[in-house]
Amino acid sequence: MQLSQIRKREIQRIANEFLDENKSQADVFDTAKALGFKIASFDPKIGKNKHKDGLIIVNQGNNKINTLPQKLIATNESLDYADTAFTVAHELGHYRLHYDPDFPYVHISWKTNGQEKPQEEREADFFAACVVMPEDATKAEIRSFESEKGSVLEDQRLLVQLCLHLSKVFKVSGECAAKRYYEVVGC
Ligand SMILES: [Zn+2]
Repeated sequence: MQLSQIRKREIQRIANEFLDENKSQADVFDTAKALGFKIASFDPKIGKNKHKDGLIIVNQGNNKINTLPQKLIATNESLDYADTAFTVAHELGHYRLHYDPDFPYVHISWKTNGQEKPQEEREADFFAACVVMPEDATKAEIRSFESEKGSVLEDQRLLVQLCLHLSKVFKVSGECAAKRYYEVVGC
């Protein structure tokens, strides 16, 4: 099932606040570090690691577990820059949307191989898209592209060009750029 429009609007608002609070940071890696996270990677050749994209541990407060790190985000070493940044933003989405400060939080984001993702995963994905391609900046890029080259709605080739352009500007995968384009223009 897709996220409801109401939940998407709520997550968009939370992501906008998050971006605003962290606007002095250059990228999601710096943002995560500024929030106190250690950033690490794991070897996909070990155990079940190849089935994981990333993980987050938030272990603070009265109920913390002494054997766990306090704040850690780790990503699969085999991911390229765009997917690593997206995964870090996805884990930050869990931190902002799903972490309860009264309990230690350990979450692994598994690769789904086409299976339906659980609600929590789709929420973190949507948050990540809102962070790596901020709403206003994405709209501004679309406007400036279209004012130079024409409306992409009537021209499929131009739409592909726009998505490639967005993927370069925001350093995201083509798939992420295309999906975000449709979300932002409200198709
Ligand atoms: Zn996840």
